[in-house]
Parts: sequence; C-alpha cells; structure tokens
Amino acid sequence: MSAATLLAAPYRPALVPLPSDWPVWPELPRLEISIFPFGAVFSGDRLGLDVRTEFDPGGRALQVRLDKPGSLPIAEADFFLDGNEGDWEARLPWVWDTSGQAGWHTLFVNLAVPSAAANGVGSIPRQYPLRILPAARRSAGWRQATSACCDYYYLSGTESERDIAGLIAQTEQIYENLNARMGGASPKLAIVFLPRLYGQGGLVLQEGILSYMDRNITGTDFLVVLEHEMTHLFSAVFFQTDARPPLILQEGWAVYLTGGHYHSPEPLQERAAALIQTGNFAPLPDLADSFYSAQHEAAYIEAGAFVEFLAGRFGHERVLAMYRDPIRADSPGAALDSMLRRHFHLTLAECEAAWLESLRLLAPDPDQVRDVEFTLQMFDMLRSYQQLYDPGGFMFDLWLPDTSRARADRISADYLPSPAATESITLEILFQAARKAAGEGEWSRSREMLEAIGRILEAKQRRVPDPIAVSPLAEKYRRLVTAILRCGFEPLSIAFRGERAVAEIREPTSLEKEVQDWDNGNGGWVRAGGARC
Ligand SMILES: [Zn+2]
Repeated sequence: MSAATLLAAPYRPALVPLPSDWPVWPELPRLEISIFPFGAVFSGDRLGLDVRTEFDPGGRALQVRLDKPGSLPIAEADFFLDGNEGDWEARLPWVWDTSGQAGWHTLFVNLAVPSAAANGVGSIPRQYPLRILPAARRSAGWRQATSACCDYYYLSGTESERDIAGLIAQTEQIYENLNARMGGASPKLAIVFLPRLYGQGGLVLQEGILSYMDRNITGTDFLVVLEHEMTHLFSAVFFQTDARPPLILQEGWAVYLTGGHYHSPEPLQERAAALIQTGNFAPLPDLADSFYSAQHEAAYIEAGAFVEFLAGRFGHERVLAMYRDPIRADSPGAALDSMLRRHFHLTLAECEAAWLESLRLLAPDPDQVRDVEFTLQMFDMLRSYQQLYDPGGFMFDLWLPDTSRARADRISADYLPSPAATESITLEILFQAARKAAGEGEWSRSREMLEAIGRILEAKQRRVPDPIAVSPLAEKYRRLVTAILRCGFEPLSIAFRGERAVAEIREPTSLEKEVQDWDNGNGGWVRAGGARC
C-alpha cells in the first residue's frame, strides 16, 4: 500500500518465490503456507507462518525447522478447523527473530507424528526457500494516548499519528452520543488505529481495530466504521461471552445505531427494499442462521434495516431492552424468535411479514438501487483483491496477532502495509475511482471500472504475468501511478480530465498531502505548469 512510508531505502520487489510456487510432492497433503510480515521479510522482522491444509491432520501438530531438517523445531502449533473456510489451519506468529539473518534460508515444515509411525507421509518435511532482505524497514514504534472515554494505540510515522488529535476529538464525540443511546453503559474502550486494511476496515477482537489510511480503498466513511465498532465495544459490557444476542442482532444494532453501514445517514428501509428488488434479500431465519456466510453488505443492510423497523414500531428503548436480554437457543434463528416473542409477543415470522409489508410499499429511488448493487459488487471484488494481493487482510483469514503482546514486545511490522507494488496501487486507485464515479451517479463509468477490476483479478487468479495489461483503462491509471511514484510521491487518488489529471498525493516522509495537476504529453505524464518533482 504505501511502500515509501515504511522503508528507509527504496523498495525493489525481491525474487521471493510465492508459497504457491514452491515445490510440493503430489502424493503429500498440500500445505499452503503464507509467511508474515507479508510481502517481504526484512532483517529484524519477526517471522510468522500461517499454514492451511484441506487434509485432516488427525491431531498432529505442525513443526517448523530452520535450515537443517534434523534440527530442533523452532516452533510447533496445533491445527484448528477454520469454520469459515472449512480447512485446517495452524498459526505461528513471531517464531523467529531475523535480526542479522539477511540472505537465503530454508524452512522445513512437517506434521509431527508419534515416533512409532514416524514414516507416515506427514512426517516428510517440506522445504521452503526463504529470503530475508537486508534491514530496510523504518522503525515504527507503538504510541499510546488516553482521553476520558478511551485508550488509543497507534504506530509512529503513520497517518494515525499525524491525525491523532482529531481522531481523539471525534471518538469522544461518538462516545458521548453512544453513551446516551446505549443506556449510559460508560465502559472504557481500547481502540487501535492501524495503517492497513483489515476486513472491511473495522473489527473487534479484545480491542477495537480500525483501519485508518490515506488511501482508503473501501470508500467508506471512517467515522461510521468507527462508531460501528465502538457500538460493539459498548455492547461487550452487557453480555457474558457465552450469552450474546445472535449476530444478526449484534450487527443490525450497530448499523441501526450508526444510521447506516458504510455511510450515514443511509436510508436503510429503502436499501432493504432495493435488496428485494435486486434479488439479494434473504429470509430472516436463513440470514440469522448463517449471517457471516451470507453476502456481507446485503446481510448488514438487511440486519440494520430490520432493527430500525423494530425500533420504529416498538420504540428504541424496548429494542435496546431486548438486545440486552439475549436468550440461548439451538440456533441463532431460534434465539431471535424467542427474543421477539418475549419482548414484543410476536414470532420472527410475524415480524418479518409485517416488515416485508412495509417494504413493499416503498418504491426505492433508482439511484439507491444502483448504489446497493454497486456496493455489493464492489466489496465482493475488494475481498477478492485482498485474497489475491494482501493475504492477512481478508476478513476470514486475518493476520492480526495479539496487539497487546505486540506492544509489550515492540513488534510492529505485521501491522504495517506490505511494500506495495505499482500493480496493487493501480488497483486501489481504480477501486477509489469506481466508488467516486458511483457517488456522482456516473453509473456507466463506475460499471466500466468494476469491469476492469474484475478482469484484472481474474487474470491474477490465472497467474497472467502482468494482470494490469489486460485492461487499457487500468493501463492508463498505471502510467500515471508510475510517473507519480517516480517523482517520489505516493498517489492517493487520481481523476482524469482529458489529457490532464488531478492527483491527490502525499509526501512519503512527512505524510503531507497535496493536490497536483499532471499533463499527458509526448514524453508521458509530467507535472503541469513545469512544476518539478
Ligand atoms: Zn459489526
């Protein structure tokens, strides 16, 4: 994403083989290995591994050895079944301090078997070549700030450090607002601002994790995402870990309270009606039972709109009382049904029927329908982009090791963006341009951009050597991205106006932002008006 910010020396892509390029024995269970920090490991980073396999390891552990197959393992971890993706996974963050280890190494990875059966296929170690690059990462230290409501953690040299005063003021404001609407729960919140995209930009582990980046490819309103996650953090004070409302209510409550999912205000009822019109509306019992496997944006819009409907019909306070009073049941749908019966004396089916009746009376604005369709499609592509270009950022495969331990051990590299190649920056700029065109009602232009992104992702999947080249539109963006990078700036967004372009950039060290005009001449893109790089 923002190479120049994080590297003291100019970054040049190294010849690190991708895990998928590494040799595997066809008769052995396939192990998919990702190395972290993703993108490049520089001397001084603490190396971590994520290992996946479709093969049931049958209780065997993963072992990792370094350089000698007969040496003692540097790390060992058990596999767990990943419910979202259906495969087995073992995670080993921070297993090897690579200080002073620049150069080539070999990892030997195998499944540990009991010694009596040591000849099983799992015991044959797989070898993975690994290149540690010379130290070039600019050190980023953890910083902490405190305000009345919250503790904040962020990294030095990132956009959150630059903007921390404003972020604190905004968080305080949201907190005050939430406290009034959540019944004065007043918990102290822990919020971590990180300069790379995790999931859709926000999530709650033990702490609230918020992606805060100058080049925000989601096009979402940061404060809406912040309020959404703060709602979850607030909610945590109501519930025992084993007794929470079903996800459809937890997420629906956060969307309703925030007044929208990615933006606010969002006309949630109209957007739910748009889901019906476009065939993206799921029956509520189904959605409740498989909330995270449903299309993400559709699920959140529907859940938020449903909670808003309940609040409109029964009042905010009664919905809050229901939300704070979860019932355990065999399935999330059954829990939701019981909660609605207890608090409103209606079944889920009755509530859904009443809601659908009110939605049928709505004729959503055609632009609203197009925007809902665009949002679903764009975020599906964005998640594919994360899977293909930024493993560890994808919502079901996050590489986000314990942030409190990272602070104690002064580890930061895992939370910084990967050194970005021109290819991924170009794609990110395209995502933004598509969102901007959609926001301006330029639907054919936004569709054209999504189509270009789709072709590039598909080419990347097929391992086409230069995926950007499949789209002339993307190629046009890449030429300017390259010129801007060559000038020593980081492009944040680009808008073309004929042979001229307006580019928002930032200076990589100071992170100061600037808007620049660029001209396309015979010799390629140059700064307008003779401005030098
Ligand atoms: Zn949420």
